[in-house]
Amino acid sequence: MKFVMKFGGASLANGEKIRHVAQLLKKYHDDGNEIVVIVSALFGVTDKLIANAAKISRKDKTKHIDEFIESIKELHYDAIAVAITDKNIKKETIKIIDDKLKYLKRAFIGICYLGELSTRSIDYISSYGERLSVPIVNGAIRSLGIESGSYTGGEIGIIVNNSKNQLEFETIYERINAKLNPVLKSEIPVIAGFIAENKDGIVKTLGRGGSDFSASIVGSALKVDEIILWKEVHGIMTSDPKIVPDAKLIPKISYIEAMELSYFGAKVLHPLSIEPAIKKKIPVRVKNIFEPDFDGTLIVSNNIHDKDVVRAISLIDEVSLLNISGVGMFGVPGVIARVFTVLANAGVNIIMISQGSSEANISIVIDDAYIDLIISEIVLEFENDIPLKVTKDKDISVIAVVGLGMTGLPGVSGRVFSALGNNHINVIMISQGSSQHNISFVVKEKDAINSVQILSNEFKLGCNS
Ligand code: ASP
Ligand code: MG
Repeated sequence: MKFVMKFGGASLANGEKIRHVAQLLKKYHDDGNEIVVIVSALFGVTDKLIANAAKISRKDKTKHIDEFIESIKELHYDAIAVAITDKNIKKETIKIIDDKLKYLKRAFIGICYLGELSTRSIDYISSYGERLSVPIVNGAIRSLGIESGSYTGGEIGIIVNNSKNQLEFETIYERINAKLNPVLKSEIPVIAGFIAENKDGIVKTLGRGGSDFSASIVGSALKVDEIILWKEVHGIMTSDPKIVPDAKLIPKISYIEAMELSYFGAKVLHPLSIEPAIKKKIPVRVKNIFEPDFDGTLIVSNNIHDKDVVRAISLIDEVSLLNISGVGMFGVPGVIARVFTVLANAGVNIIMISQGSSEANISIVIDDAYIDLIISEIVLEFENDIPLKVTKDKDISVIAVVGLGMTGLPGVSGRVFSALGNNHINVIMISQGSSQHNISFVVKEKDAINSVQILSNEFKLGCNS
């Protein structure tokens, strides 16, 4: 079979883990599979690079640069010492790392003297996480006697348009095929996730967490049998096992459901990152690096209709409810538009929204972190024309009940809210998109865990129910 396998930072956190990854790859390779590997930076390195760039651009201290480079060097040297067993390969890899660190240092010095940090510099600097991890994974594989090559995203053809950073997928797919197909039979190519280039060879990145996206692009180009996103969890669960201890693994989920779930806090993957694969109908599997024999969760492009009405329940914490009310809103067009503009200008994402037909009240759920800022901005926006009352409730949580099986099936929301009512849980706000794949509601934070457990029982989502 042909696979794209992506390993995230947590799976590459140290030398032991990288060696484990190499051994896992060897097993698949020895079984006769063709594999392309996409890697993230070692755990936490991208964050460190970005934070340090910001720090250095504010304070003109070149001495901090040396300290920082030393710490990054040590982290990667430590990984090499354990992950790469072959002496010569070890030496070679150290040389590659030293060389790359020289360029990284120069970039930091530039930022330090200029005292400014452009998007271009951030892209360049943050790309070093992957530039440094690729040679180590590559060396670990070669240490096991398997041929392996190293590539950046740009080198295999992930090139964005200069003007709007857009990706022309079909052209990119052609380039990837031209580059990787000839080498696939004889080596395991290791590709830096997250990194792209523009047509002038300037480094671009694909957004935080972008290596899942890289994997999805490469897998779609090569039309692989499966893209495996290796994580440190079994896959996507019916609910958070920390809340519902008997939560079950979902063996197969449709893309739409995975998307609904991750909007609502299930952080296993960002669904947009696998969109290219879903469009090409390439199955994407989430698997546990420590239990490779476990099937994990398969995400498929088609809608699965089976006996499960509700597939999963998720809970979002650290959110706040923003309430805007006042008779002045009644029949006045454009109030919501102005509220949205305030939110958009502040870069704040709306998690949930509802407006009753009385038009006297709008409720919006947003991240806790922004609530106070947004309240003052909204007050400012309307103070001269419409008298509004703007209030907040920070002690709330959102719960989302997700499943394609709910579509067109009467009685599901009845069951959801009866179960809660029977347990004396008060529902503060409700919203159901017309897609009918998701019923979301707001409860007091103190009732949140209980609500998830009650619903998990009601819809028999646990191993014991
Ligand atoms: N290293 C990048 C990040 O931390 C990309 C990734 O890990 O997927 O965002
Ligand atoms: Mg809260």
